[in-house]
Amino acid sequence: MNIPEIDLQRVVIIGGGFAGLNLAKKLNKNHYQVVLLDKNNYHTFQPLLYQVATSGLEPDSIAYPIRRTFKNAANFHFRVTEVYGINATEKTVNTSTGALRYDYFVIATGAKTNFFGMDSLENNSISMKSLVESLDLRSKIIQNFEKALYTKNLKEQEALMNFIIVGAGPTGVELAGALAELKNHVLPKDYPDLDIRRMKIHLVEAAPRILAPMSEVASKKAHEFLKKLGVHIWTNTLVTDYDGTLVTTNGKTDFYSETLIWAAGVKGNPVEGLSEENITRGNRIEVNDFLEVAGKESVFAMGDVALVHSNDTPNGHAMLGSVAMQQGIHLANNFNRLVLDKKRKPFVYNDKGTMATVGRNLAVVDLPKFKFQGFFAWFVWMFVHLMLLVGFRNKVIVFINWAWSYIRFDKGTRLIVRPYKE
Ligand SMILES: Cc1cc2nc3c(=O)[nH]c(=O)nc-3n(C[C@H](O)[C@H](O)[C@H](O)COP(=O)(O)OP(=O)(O)OC[C@H]3O[C@@H](n4cnc5c(N)ncnc54)[C@H](O)[C@@H]3O)c2cc1C
Repeated sequence: MNIPEIDLQRVVIIGGGFAGLNLAKKLNKNHYQVVLLDKNNYHTFQPLLYQVATSGLEPDSIAYPIRRTFKNAANFHFRVTEVYGINATEKTVNTSTGALRYDYFVIATGAKTNFFGMDSLENNSISMKSLVESLDLRSKIIQNFEKALYTKNLKEQEALMNFIIVGAGPTGVELAGALAELKNHVLPKDYPDLDIRRMKIHLVEAAPRILAPMSEVASKKAHEFLKKLGVHIWTNTLVTDYDGTLVTTNGKTDFYSETLIWAAGVKGNPVEGLSEENITRGNRIEVNDFLEVAGKESVFAMGDVALVHSNDTPNGHAMLGSVAMQQGIHLANNFNRLVLDKKRKPFVYNDKGTMATVGRNLAVVDLPKFKFQGFFAWFVWMFVHLMLLVGFRNKVIVFINWAWSYIRFDKGTRLIVRPYKE
C-alpha cells in the first residue's frame, strides 16, 4: 500500500467507527504518522439506523465522509480497504489492497450480527448493523405493502403485514416504536386500499423483560409505551427457526411473516492473525486496561471488538458508542503521553447512563443517579443524539427532519431503492 515513509512512528488504525475516529482525531500528528483504514469511506452513526429503516431519515444524514473529518490534517492518511489480518511478527497488516508496515496497530473493527449458529435465521432474516442493511430494510417494509395490494389471499397478506422484531434491547424497542408510528400515522394515508389495522408488530424477547440492560422502571415504562402504540410484546419467548414465512418459537405462539428483523445479538468482529487466547467471550479481543493485546507487541484493540479485562470489569464493558468513544480518546491521550515520556493511564469508563426512545414524546433515560421517562426523557434523547452526530450539516438535516415529522406526523423518505425484480 502506498503510504509515504517519513521520520515518525506510524500508527495504523482499522475502523473509522466511534473508537477509531476519535483516536485518529486526537492523536498528535506532529509526533505520529496516522493511517486510518476502513472498508467504507464514511463513518456511520449506528444509533439512528432504525430511523433510516423506518423512513424517518435519509441515509446520508447519519453518515459522514471520513476524508472530510480530516480535511487538511498533516501526517494523516486514509485508505478505503478491507483489512484481512495482521502479521504481528513482521509488524505488517494484510489488506485487500496490499500489505502495510506499522509501528503501532489498533483494531477498532466493531461488532457484527450474532445469529448464535442458527443458519435459518441468518439466511432468512434481515439485520440492521449497517447503512446498507437499514436501507434494504426500508425498501422491504414499503415493498411489502405494495405487494399486499396485489393479493386477495388473507394468509399471504398477513405475512406481508406482520413484522417480527427479535430482541427487545434498545435497537428492537426503538424499531418497534418507529414501525408503530408508521402504522398509526403514515401508512393509512399511503395505502387507503389496504386495511392497515391488520398490520401487526411483534416484539419477541427471550428475557423476562424488555430493555433488560436498563433499570426495571425503564423497562416497565417502555413496555407500557409500546403497548399504547399497539406493539405486541412476547417476553420469555425464544425464536428457534424461520423459513422465510413461518417463525417458530419455543412458546405457544408461531407467526407468519415475510419480515423477521434480527436485533437479538452482536459479537466482536476481530481480524485474522491473533492467537486463540486473544479471543474471549462474545468473540471479542481480550485487552488489559491499557487496551493492549496480550503477547502481541504494539497491538491494541478498543470499542465493541475489545473486552477490557480487569478486576473491576471481568466481563468487559457493554458494547456502547460511549465506551468506544471514551476508549478512542483515552488511547490517543496515552499515545500522546508516551512521546512526552509521561506515564500512561489505565482506562476507566465514565458511565454517563443509557437511554432509549419509543416514539413521539416517549423515551426512557437511566442516569447513574437519576431515572426519568416520558416527554423530558424524549427531549434529552433527541438532544444527546443530535450532539453526538458527526458533522454540522448532518445535525441540521436531522433536526429539520425531526421537526417536520413532529409537526406533520410524517416520515418523508418512503422510497424503495432496491433493484427492480419481477
Ligand atoms: C442499530 C444499532 C443501534 C445502536 N444504538 C446505540 C445507542 O443508542 N447508544 C449507544 O451507545 N450505542 C448504540 N449502538 C452501539 C454503538 O453503535 C457501538 O457500540 C459503536 O458503534 C461501536 O463503535 P466501534 O468504533 O467499536 O465500532 P463501529 O462503530 O462498528 O465501527 C467499526 C468500523 O470498522 C470498519 N471495519 C470493520 N471491519 C473492517 C475490516 N475488516 N476492514 C476495514 N474496516 C473494517 C467498519 O466499516 C466500521 O466503520 C447501536 C448499535 C447498533 C447496530
